[in-house]
Formats: sequence, C-alpha cells, structure tokens
Amino acid sequence: MTTAEPKRGALVVISGPSGAGKTSICNELLRRIPNSRWSVSVTTRPRRGTEVDGQAYHFITVAEFERLRAAGELLEWAEYLGNLYGTPRRPVEEALARGEVVIMEIDVQGGAQVARRVPDSIRVFVLPPTMETLKARLAGRHTESAALQAKRLAEADGEIAFARSSGHYQYFITNDILEDSVNEVLRILRERTG
Ligand code: 5GP
Repeated sequence: MTTAEPKRGALVVISGPSGAGKTSICNELLRRIPNSRWSVSVTTRPRRGTEVDGQAYHFITVAEFERLRAAGELLEWAEYLGNLYGTPRRPVEEALARGEVVIMEIDVQGGAQVARRVPDSIRVFVLPPTMETLKARLAGRHTESAALQAKRLAEADGEIAFARSSGHYQYFITNDILEDSVNEVLRILRERTG
C-alpha cells in the first residue's frame, strides 16, 4: 500500500504599498488559517528596534544575500529603497508539498516573479482607502525617520500603477476595515482551493 501524497497547499502573496496594512492582514490570516505558515524573507535592511531576527525576517549581509541568489536558493528577490529582500525557496516548496498554506508579503517586483514561477499562486494587492490614509498610517508607525517615510510614500504610486497594469495580481482589496479585508482574502482562498 502506498501513502497518499497530501494535496498541494496554497501560496498566498500579499503585496501593496508600505502603510496599506499588509502585515496586519497577514498576521490575522496566519491566526485564522489552520495549517498556515509565514514565509520568512531574508533582507539586508537594518533591523528595526522591535524586530527579532528569524521572525518577520532573517537579517543577513549583502554578501550572504548574493550567495543565496547565485546558488538559486531564492524563489524571488527585489531591491526596495536600496535594500535587498528575497524569499528562500526551499521552505516554501516543502510547506506546499506538505499541503500547507504559505503566506508571503513581498513587493510588486517579487510578485511578478512569483506569478511566473508559481502560476497557481493567489496574488492579492492591498490598497489604502486613500493616499491621505496611507500617509497618516506611515506617519503613525514611528519606526522610521520622516525622510524614509517620504521615500516609502513616493514609491506607492508606482507600485499601485505597476500592480494594476502588469496583470500579475488577480485580486485588489481596499483595506479600510481590517476584519473585512481578512474575510475577503479568506473568501478568495476558499474559492480557489475548494
Ligand atoms: P519593509 O522594509 O517595510 O519590511 O519591507 C519593504 C518592502 O519589501 C515591502 O513592500 C515588503 O512587502 C517587501 N518585501 C519584504 N520581504 C520581501 C521579499 O522577500 N521579497 C520581495 N520581493 N519583497 C519583500
């Protein structure tokens, strides 16, 4: 008798401008979806005060990042505001093979690469209700300098335009009320995975 292979899991990609509320949505999805896991990215961005290495990110050097990239160990990668970010490939593939739901928060350049490499992934772009809301949310974070916040805000228009024109995102969600946004992603996941 052979052991049945578990049903392949689902890969959920969440993208959107900084301050749109992606992280809150992801955290809530992880809490509510049994058998779900967070894809821990590697980054060369300096660690913010409250961040713990290995939780949201593995903080690595540029040399380590280059080694991973050259070895083909990244599913996707991108440069955002001068720092490198990437998704280690193996943990994602192994979790999908075990039938788990993998949730990753990556930028639009990474989303485009995942769309090509994992065509059956579920790609969601999170929009702020208004640009004013985005600005206010960024300002309220107190984790970055005003100059960095301005840079992140300046990126937003381009990211939104790219997401809309590229065709790489199948779903757009306006994140006004967190609960509604989370329910919308859960609905999409049910629709896609049956
Ligand atoms: P932050 O510095 O705010 O944590 O992230 C900055 C941007 O990088 C966000 O848009 C975030 O979604 C994106 N990002 C985080 N991890 C990855 C990754 O592994 N790959 C890519 N392409 N983008 C990432």
